[in-house]
Amino acid sequence: MVKKADVIMLICLVFVSLLLFAVMLLIPKNSGDTLVVTVDGKEYCRLPLSVDTEIPLSGNTVIIENGYAYMKNANCPDKICINQGKINKIGQTVVCLPNSVILEVE
Ligand SMILES: [Zn+2]
Repeated sequence: MVKKADVIMLICLVFVSLLLFAVMLLIPKNSGDTLVVTVDGKEYCRLPLSVDTEIPLSGNTVIIENGYAYMKNANCPDKICINQGKINKIGQTVVCLPNSVILEVE
């Protein structure tokens, strides 16, 4: 025999799970707040994604804009880094292999 209280408890649990699930969907997941620029295997600088700026490197130009970071210009032949687009989530990277430049969000 199922008690009424058990049913109410179960309904509450389901409701809370659904609510948590909805909240998780609404909150942007794993958005980073720092851009780490690595050049030739060494950390070149770390900058907040919240401040728009331009980082001139020897062969690349990195832009931080509206919370996103991307490679604006590069003198590498493949331009893969430019095509990697904008990043803002923790662990996302833009890599320019020919110039040994790595952008990573933390
Ligand atoms: Zn490149």
